[in-house]
Amino acid sequence: MIIYKSASDLSSHLSELSRKNNSLGFVPTMGALHQGHLSLVEHSKKKCNITIASIFVNPTQFNDPSDFAKYPVTLDNDLFLLEKSGCDIVFLPPVNEIYPGGTELAHTYNIGRLETLLEGQYRPGHFQGVCQVVDRLLEIVNPSVLFLGQKDYQQCMVIRELIRLTGRKIETVIVPTVREVSGLAMSSRNMRLSEQDKTKAKAIYEGLTYIKTAISKGPVSVLVEEVSRRLTAAGFEEIDYISIADAATLEPIDVWDGKTPLVALAAAFIGGIRLIDNLQLS
Ligand code: AMP
Repeated sequence: MIIYKSASDLSSHLSELSRKNNSLGFVPTMGALHQGHLSLVEHSKKKCNITIASIFVNPTQFNDPSDFAKYPVTLDNDLFLLEKSGCDIVFLPPVNEIYPGGTELAHTYNIGRLETLLEGQYRPGHFQGVCQVVDRLLEIVNPSVLFLGQKDYQQCMVIRELIRLTGRKIETVIVPTVREVSGLAMSSRNMRLSEQDKTKAKAIYEGLTYIKTAISKGPVSVLVEEVSRRLTAAGFEEIDYISIADAATLEPIDVWDGKTPLVALAAAFIGGIRLIDNLQLS
């Protein structure tokens, strides 16, 4: 496994590999790796000749500075796991390799309603930071295929929109969410949960599963209210949203026609840690 810290060195190596007709699979991450990240690497290895992962905790996508300061860093273990999973190349850039001109946004990415819905509403500026870092990473890596986790459903939609806006020819593969046995979606932030809170946190998945089982044609707000009650009872101290939304647009629906594909999404705090999850309903 080769490790690069310099963007230009990585770019030259990768363009050389592309010229030799290799397909490049790219897995961008913020580190503190778990089985969810490794599943993306596995998918890339099956589909592409060369797999590149990046580890970069992007400062510009954190709307809460203390969340950034406390983001877990487990670099040695990350490199061990990537090597073991057969990843070929790891990109570990310092901030100035990603943002040589500074972290200020050069221009706004017009991602439409995705900017203000759900995560966008509760984390202002977050998706501009995501677009900024992914745009730069794609410029450096220029992959054939980009691997993303369904765990971050809205982020997948934002990045697909970014690729469309920038006219890049990159295929995206969305990999299913990897969960703990309890159902809790694996997340780097889970490392900051106490064992007790980790057990309670499975209520978020159980709530989404309840919606999936109980939903039927007609009004849906009672399901949202019930899950909100269950999360509070389980010990979640704050709920940003529980939403039943059109799977293609993320617009919330009040009444289901029984046909439109839906996704249920939630974001809530337990032990001061903000967790998100989602489940496709149909
Ligand atoms: P992160 O390091 O949290 O920025 O995530 C890097 C990539 O891994 C993103 O595409 C995430 O959606 C994906 N990911 C994170 N958690 C999971 C999971 N539990 N299952 C599948 N993919 C995941």
